[in-house]
Amino acid sequence: MGGRGSGMSVALYGDGACSGNPGPGGYGAVLVFPDGRVEEVSGFSPSTTNNRMELMAIIEGLRRLRERAEEDLRSGRLRVRLFLDSAYVANALKNHWPWEWRSQGYRTNSGSPVKNVDLWEQLLELLEGIPWEVAHVPGHTGVWGNERADTLAREAIRRGLKGRTDASGAISRDSAADKPHGENSDPPEGKGLTRAADGGGERAVPSASFAVIGGSSTFSLRFPAALNRPEVRVLEEGLVFPTPFGESPPFTLFEVGGKRVLTVRMHGWRPPHVSRADASRQVFWVFREAGVRRIFAEGGVGSLSRLLELRDFVIPDDYIDMTMRKDVSLGLPYLLIMREPICLVGAEILARAAEARVRGTGRRVFRRGVYVATDGRHFESRSEVQAFRQMGGDVVGQSLVPEVYLAREIGACYAGIHLVTNYAEGVVRDWEHDELKDIFYGEAELVGHILIDALLAAPPGGEGCRCPTYRKPTLLRDEPPAAFSEAP
Ligand SMILES: [Zn+2]
Repeated sequence: MGGRGSGMSVALYGDGACSGNPGPGGYGAVLVFPDGRVEEVSGFSPSTTNNRMELMAIIEGLRRLRERAEEDLRSGRLRVRLFLDSAYVANALKNHWPWEWRSQGYRTNSGSPVKNVDLWEQLLELLEGIPWEVAHVPGHTGVWGNERADTLAREAIRRGLKGRTDASGAISRDSAADKPHGENSDPPEGKGLTRAADGGGERAVPSASFAVIGGSSTFSLRFPAALNRPEVRVLEEGLVFPTPFGESPPFTLFEVGGKRVLTVRMHGWRPPHVSRADASRQVFWVFREAGVRRIFAEGGVGSLSRLLELRDFVIPDDYIDMTMRKDVSLGLPYLLIMREPICLVGAEILARAAEARVRGTGRRVFRRGVYVATDGRHFESRSEVQAFRQMGGDVVGQSLVPEVYLAREIGACYAGIHLVTNYAEGVVRDWEHDELKDIFYGEAELVGHILIDALLAAPPGGEGCRCPTYRKPTLLRDEPPAAFSEAP
C-alpha cells in the first residue's frame, strides 16, 4: 500500500448487485478524476454472487483507471481512493487480509479455503505498486458516486437479462470466452454506459456536494477566482451541460476546504430568450446530477421595512411567492413541504460568516425576514409595495423563488444572504440609480468572501437540519395504492 502523499486523488466508487445469490448479477464503478471528469464502467454476469460482483466493480474500475493514468499512478502523483459499498471487501482490504491469505496459499487463519481466489488475485495485481486507500460507504446514504454505482449495477442486470431474452443486447454476451473468469464486462466505449468527458462529446456533470448560486451582488466578479483566496482551487470554468430544459448556463467547478462546489452566475439567467423558469430548471437539473446537498445563494433586495439600512444583510427565514410562474419543477415525484423553507443550518452558517466579515463596520446582519418574491425584471409599484408591507414582507426580490422549491425537490438544503440595495417604492425615500450602482459593483468582493467563508464552515454533508424530512413521496400516482387495486 502506497503512502498518503499530498498529490491528487481519483475516487473510485464500486457496487455490485445480484438478484438471487447466486443469480444474475451486475456491477458498476464510477471514477471521478481530479479535474471532475467522470467515467463509468459496468457489466453483467448471468450467474454469480453478490461478493463476486462487488469485487468485479473494483477490479474493472481499477483496470479502467490504470488504462487512463498508469504513469501518474506509478509515480505516486495520483492516488486512488476506493469507496466501497461492500463492508466485506472494504474490511478485507483495510486489514490486509487478502495479502495474508495469499501468503498462506489462500487459506484463512482458521485454515478454510478462501472463496473467489481468481478475483482476489486480479485485485491484488491491480493494486500492486500504486498508492491507494479504502473506505466503506454504506449503501443508500445519498453519496452520489455510490448511488450511481448502484444504479449502474442494476441497469447492467436489467440490460443483461433483456439481452438474453430478446437477443438484442450487445451488452450481455452469453459467451464469456473473452473474460477469463466468466464475468462479462461492457466494452470500454460506445454502449451508452460510458460517459467520458474528455473526447469533447457529451459531458457528464462532475460530482459536487455544494453549490453557490450567484446573484446581483457577485455579478461583477469572476467568482471565485477573482477573490484570490488561497483555500480555493478553481478546477474548471465554463462548464456547459445539455439538460432536458435546454443547454445549461456556464458553471464553474472549484474546491475549497476539501469540498467540491459548483457555481453559476446571476441565478443562471441569460439574455435574451431563456426564460427564468427554464434557467432555474437547468441549474437545478445540473445540481441534482452532481449530487449537490447544500446550496448557498445571494442576491440584492429592496427594503419593504423602514428599519433596514442600505447595505444591511438579510438572511430570510420565510417567503411569500408573488410570482406568476407556477409549476416550475423538475417533475420529480415528491410532495414538497415548505414548513422551514430555508435550511436553519445553512442560514446560521451564512449569518456567522457575514457577521465576522462586517464586525466593527457598523453594518448589520439580520437572521430573520420575510422575502416577497416577484417576477421582475422591473421593480415594483408603490401600491404593490404597500400591499407587500401589509402582508408582512420585509424585503422584496426576484430570485428566491423558484430556487427554494427546486432545492427542496432535489433534496438539497438552501439558504441565501441578501444585500439591501435600495428601498422599495414609497419606503423611506426614493432610491437613486448611482447609489444602486455603487452597491451593485462595490459589494461584490465582500459577498464573495462571505460565501467562501460559509463553504469552509459548512459541515461536509447535509446533516443537522430537518430539510430532508420535508420531502415526501407524492400521493399523485397513476396507480391507486396497492390496498385498493385488488379485484373485489
Ligand atoms: Zn437543511
